[in-house]
Amino acid sequence: MHVIYGGTFDPVHHGHLRLGLEISDALAVDRVHLLPCHIPPHRGNTGATSEQRLELIRLAINGEHRLCVDDRELHRAGASYTADTLRQLRAELGPEMPLVMVVGTDAFAAFDRWREWVDIPALAHIVVVQRPGAGIPVGSQAARLLAERSVPGPEALRASPCGAILQLNPPLLDISATGIRQRIASGRSPRYLTPDPVWQRIQSLRLYGACPAGNF
Ligand code: ATP
Repeated sequence: MHVIYGGTFDPVHHGHLRLGLEISDALAVDRVHLLPCHIPPHRGNTGATSEQRLELIRLAINGEHRLCVDDRELHRAGASYTADTLRQLRAELGPEMPLVMVVGTDAFAAFDRWREWVDIPALAHIVVVQRPGAGIPVGSQAARLLAERSVPGPEALRASPCGAILQLNPPLLDISATGIRQRIASGRSPRYLTPDPVWQRIQSLRLYGACPAGNF
């Protein structure tokens, strides 16, 4: 089973990293592939370039063999559309291998605004992680899809290559990249919200308005 977990990761933080390990445990997979987007289609400019965000992820997961990074979206020009990424992965993995895409409820609630979203269940399974405060609106396309395709446990994901939706409710850390960017921009430290090597590199690159403080 091949598991990808996409996002902007602007910057990566302990909430993302913990979720990666929770997913690895819950699905009993050896590896979860963090997949940073090059240009996010549904939001404004990022605070760091895709190369910088990728570098920060590499620093964050250094030494953790259950997390790895897939930089394929950085090699495609233009906006990063998930359907394109899944098609590329499906071509590489072959038609039989279960392919799983992890998304938070915040992202899944707007699923029908993703380009070619109707094609996605024919390419991958979806694991929807419950995030606090982010529900799936009753009557939405996302809710309908969930009702049609919901499966009770991870075994069902192994039984077919794509098409199922599994809801998970792992413990989550209350951390957001937005909160980290805001802290840095207002001169406060984001220490312990993201790994120290990430914060050090943010400072040395002066990302998000950081000063090269030389300490924490
Ligand atoms: P931002 O605050 O910039 O929107 P974010 O911290 O929510 O960023 P993203 O890169 O947008 O991070 O999220 C990537 C994926 O990680 C999404 O599916 C999102 O639901 C999930 N995610 C974000 N923060 C957490 C967290 N603290 N715990 C678990 N999952 C998270």
